[in-house]
Amino acid sequence: MSDDTYRGPSWWSLSALRAAGRLVPVGWLAGTALAVALALLEARFDWSAIPIPIGPVTVGFTIYPPLTVVLLLAIWLGPPWGMIPAFVATFASALSVGIPPGVAAVFALATPLEVLILWGSMVTLNISPDLRRWSDVRRFLAAGLIAATASSVAALIWSDSRRVGLTESQRLWQGWLLGDLAQIALVVAPVLRLLGPRVRAALDRHFRTPPRREFSYRASVLLTILVSLTLVTLTALGARMLMGSLQIPEAARTASGEPLLPRLREIALFVGLMVTVLLVTTGAFSASMARLGDRERGLALRDALTGCFNRRAFYRLFRREADRARRLGAGLSLLSLDIDHFKGVNDAHGHGFGDEVLRMLSRRVRAQLREPDLLFRWGGEEFLILLPHSVPGAAGHLAERVRASVAAEPFRVGEEGREVPVTVSLGVAGGDAQEALDADELLQRADAALLSAKREGRNRVVSEQPAGETLAS
Ligand code: GH3
Ligand code: MG
Ligand code: MG
Repeated sequence: MSDDTYRGPSWWSLSALRAAGRLVPVGWLAGTALAVALALLEARFDWSAIPIPIGPVTVGFTIYPPLTVVLLLAIWLGPPWGMIPAFVATFASALSVGIPPGVAAVFALATPLEVLILWGSMVTLNISPDLRRWSDVRRFLAAGLIAATASSVAALIWSDSRRVGLTESQRLWQGWLLGDLAQIALVVAPVLRLLGPRVRAALDRHFRTPPRREFSYRASVLLTILVSLTLVTLTALGARMLMGSLQIPEAARTASGEPLLPRLREIALFVGLMVTVLLVTTGAFSASMARLGDRERGLALRDALTGCFNRRAFYRLFRREADRARRLGAGLSLLSLDIDHFKGVNDAHGHGFGDEVLRMLSRRVRAQLREPDLLFRWGGEEFLILLPHSVPGAAGHLAERVRASVAAEPFRVGEEGREVPVTVSLGVAGGDAQEALDADELLQRADAALLSAKREGRNRVVSEQPAGETLAS
């Protein structure tokens, strides 16, 4: 990947959904109802494995319209909000054709599985939910192929419920795979490209909190295990049903005279174990590769001494936050921080001591920040703080808190706990959403304010005035 910035889909938690305006939950419920209605229609008119002649061969093609609805819900709101309606819709359609509830429940895992795999692939392949670039479209189609292939296994269960033979069953499987892939390519992808930016901007306005982008390592491992278990269950159930459909009598024997059924069961178990080993090893291997990639990317964006983001990270994260500020109509502010008379600290106690002060300072500053705020070590003893959702007025208050917390008590460094008083000066600059914000220009303005703070005697905060002049707080 040439670009380290995460551009993939984000998600809203249950609490965010609860706190959102009424339109969001109502819209989600309407989407769920639509998915169920479409699933029942599909089952009623049986749009599965519609034979389509292509030259000399005839391929099956299945149209399962709820898929589009649940995929859009997952991509725009988050995986649970697509997986729940996916399960309910498929479960309802399975029941409506007379599949027993227990089997229907397993069968109905296939659609949420497809949703989860597509969404998870968008995260790991860093696919923008608006499919802005052609590389996004290409990767999205690849992700769709993986997701559709995985869930199409459930066609075996559908085949069994319809009491069809092996040939027809093949066509059902093929139809599921081709139909889902066609729907993802010809319906979901164009909708994401055409409506995505508008829908997501509207959602940003209706939710009161920004969407989440982070996923814990533990959650992704758990999800991977869940996906593997679901696949194994679907495959096992499908295989058992296919065997059943062969209707081999208990007395049947192999050519060498052994009973046939136990042999077949052994073979099925053996193949099942091989598939499980394959799944587990590929899953574990991909997870460790993904983690390695994350670590490398993380290291490249962090400063080794303090663990703060570095200069390189600043430009990337600034671009992301400036884009979001414009979309949300929110403010964005930048604080520039420089330690006062730091040369004196080094001269008196040595460079190693100074380094320790830098580490402690970054911890003290971080403790004052809110969750979305970003702390960078710009170089030497200069730091930047990027504050999303902050107009310069509010940013000035935060800067004052940072200044006060540093000055509040001396730093205790080294084993003998030598005490050093440290103070910092800060410059504040920012803008609201209307202006197109440029990183270097905003930085220059924050530095100009910082320079005034130094000139006016240090250990203080200076905010630039709207006109570009500065004023001490
Ligand atoms: P002021 O900012 O208040 O004008 O005075 P200052 O003494 O802090 O001046 P300046 O900002 O120019 O400080 C630069 C000094 O910071 C030079 C160097 O001694 C120290 N410094 C820069 N980078 C590091 C570092 O990575 N580790 C340590 N220990 N010291 C550093
Ligand atoms: Mg300096
Ligand atoms: Mg300094």
